[in-house]
Amino acid sequence: MQTTSQHIVEVAIPLPLEGSFHYLVPGRLSPLAAPGKRVLVPFGRRKVTGYLLGDADAPGAGELKEVLEILDEEPLFTAAELDFYRWIAGYYLHPLGEVIKMALPAGINLVSRYRCEQSEDGTPVLKEYLAGGKSVRTERLYTAVPDCTVRPRGKGLEILEYLLDVGECSGPQLRERFGPCTAQLGRLVELGAARLSQREVYRDPFKAREYGHDGPLPLNPAQAEALAKVSAALETGEFSPFLLHGVTGSGKTEVYLQSIAVALGAGRSALVLVPEIALTPQLVGRFKRRFDCGIAVLHSGLSDGERFDEWRRIRRGEASIVIGARSALFAPLEGIGVIVVDEEHEGSYKQSEGVRYNARDLALVRGKLGRAVVLLGSATPLVTSYHAAQTGRLGYLSLPDRVRDLPMPQTRMLDARNHKGEIFLPELIEALGENLDAGGQTLLFLNRRGFATYLVCETCGHVLRCPNCAVTLTYHRIKGKHVCHYCDFTMLPPSTCPDCQSGAITLLGRGTERVEDQVQKLFPDARVARMDRDSTRGKGGHARVLKELEEGTVDILIGTQMIAKGHDFPGVTLVGVLSADASLNLPDFRSAERTFQLVTQVMGRAGRGDKPGRVLVQTLAPEHYALTHAVAHDYLGFYREEIAFREEVGYPPFAHLAALTFSAVAAAQGERAAEEAAGLLRRIKREARLRVEVLGPVTAPLGKVRGRFRWQILLKGVERADLHRLLFHFRGGFGHPSTVRLTIDVDPVDML
Ligand code: ADP
Ligand code: ZN
Ligand code: ZN
Repeated sequence: MQTTSQHIVEVAIPLPLEGSFHYLVPGRLSPLAAPGKRVLVPFGRRKVTGYLLGDADAPGAGELKEVLEILDEEPLFTAAELDFYRWIAGYYLHPLGEVIKMALPAGINLVSRYRCEQSEDGTPVLKEYLAGGKSVRTERLYTAVPDCTVRPRGKGLEILEYLLDVGECSGPQLRERFGPCTAQLGRLVELGAARLSQREVYRDPFKAREYGHDGPLPLNPAQAEALAKVSAALETGEFSPFLLHGVTGSGKTEVYLQSIAVALGAGRSALVLVPEIALTPQLVGRFKRRFDCGIAVLHSGLSDGERFDEWRRIRRGEASIVIGARSALFAPLEGIGVIVVDEEHEGSYKQSEGVRYNARDLALVRGKLGRAVVLLGSATPLVTSYHAAQTGRLGYLSLPDRVRDLPMPQTRMLDARNHKGEIFLPELIEALGENLDAGGQTLLFLNRRGFATYLVCETCGHVLRCPNCAVTLTYHRIKGKHVCHYCDFTMLPPSTCPDCQSGAITLLGRGTERVEDQVQKLFPDARVARMDRDSTRGKGGHARVLKELEEGTVDILIGTQMIAKGHDFPGVTLVGVLSADASLNLPDFRSAERTFQLVTQVMGRAGRGDKPGRVLVQTLAPEHYALTHAVAHDYLGFYREEIAFREEVGYPPFAHLAALTFSAVAAAQGERAAEEAAGLLRRIKREARLRVEVLGPVTAPLGKVRGRFRWQILLKGVERADLHRLLFHFRGGFGHPSTVRLTIDVDPVDML
């Protein structure tokens, strides 16, 4: 019976529901209830895990249900982290419970649960009650009991003396040394001469390797100026966001490293975000050689257990630097001094499902909440970032030249318009041959995997399409199958046209597999490798290919955008870009920007060593401004044309966007929901006088994916506040059948 004042708490539940919920904490649990812990609560007819947010003031009307269990010994998040989660939930219009669940490592759900019990003296304690135990990995170690006088004989004595010598040793290690010795070990423990103890160990995702040590490099003037500004900003202790704009190979990473050293020197920590693809042992090695402090590494290749181990190390303050891809943004790091977002223009910082956050944008938010310096680094900044630097919202740090006076690579555009069907133009073949003779390495970039892009019937024009998605199937010769890149649907090659049964069917278009095939035919003794999502499946797949390139056992590497990013290969002296225009033709307002970035990044792989580099860009659109400026290494020229276009059509940074996508298996249902939504949006907008354009609904550019038809509404607001008010009211007032799925994407990156 509760007689004294009641303990009421606010709980967030990871379900697609708005708001948080109130529960009563029974007296036996009250001393253990603390914000940041998980709780087991009744919800409807179920029991669910929720997150305790804090005490609630007023008892709500009616009967409150009781918290059933407290599930954690220690809080999983701090008050500051909760503020950050609340900000995200508000901005992306996503339930807080789901945001918290996403921010915490998945491995946490494997860990043992606790139950509250009375201890002997009457105080409540937590006891493990579910033998999960899977998540915390332990090691069992033998130690000798020093003052024990019992002495075994034979092998037992040998083992005991060894243990006295080395201190502690695991069973497997002892067996390796002494052969089978389980019986002797058991006897030692029984005699009291040795003891078994258990110790928590971490799984190390980058297995213990020798990294050696590197000191800081003497900086060139531009680097020194950038570092000075960062140091000054760190000293103020205020939020200071910067754009670090430096051409490829200009020494941005060195500026990150030395900025981090300054932050560590001031007793603060550092968070480094990189695109998944750039998170190689090469980069991690560079950090490990530079710093002695704990470094945690988070990336999608980790198992849930490994990720959870890294998370706990960070939470306990055992790592002062965290390096990771997108989700590392949520690392429980305290006292952050510097947040680095490397290759800030990368689309992969945006999460494309669930909570559709953008880690680049949220790095600024986290930096603001934690008063940190934020460094957004890129050779090809987003035009929105460059615009922010010009208007003073970001500080601007510039590294205009490559280090060590390395020249930018020589580049040439090759006009492919009158060479239909040829994979390589003669100039490119010639350059490839010359480079092989000179012992240089070549990268060939084509942003399409597979062998051929589609199968077409020459009689009736039928094109083989995915039955679930509105896209063509790509032929993968290695698998011997046609594959859908959106839903993984596969089928064996038909022998005749499925539509008219004609036998005249042809594979058209080209992918990386076909390029590989062709290169090998042209240069039979060249060592050729391919790197794309097919060739590098599985852990360490792409690290292996990169290592081969680094060690010089590959002459020509063919790849998709995976090869474009951040890698530093001194041996690469030729880069060939094939069909540079493919990405220009996507129905997305960012297609020019993406193409410029991609081509510039690939070009940047050439000539990073002692020998100068050459780049050949083969394209059907040699006059497009995205390509002409890329080839001329002219970011500013590109920026000026692109920003003028954005202003004219009212796209970011001149407007803020949100995309609403409706999907349904039954086309009519999806369409009706989308139309009703558009009607409601227009009504709210009118009544509240919001300056937001409501465009659509229209069939989405990818009109059907995985068997669901898709419609889109695009919202464009000059003022972000107006856009958010509209979304907020809409979400509160819109109902749709459960067969229709609605996703709200604030600041969409992919418009398909
Ligand atoms: P970015 O990140 O801009 O591509 P990096 O920091 O990786 O450039 O630098 C490119 C190469 O130049 C690396 O091998 C790095 O060790 C070297 N480097 C960077 N700064 C200097 C410097 N001040 N002096 C000499 N070499 C440098
Ligand atoms: Zn046909
Ligand atoms: Zn499909």
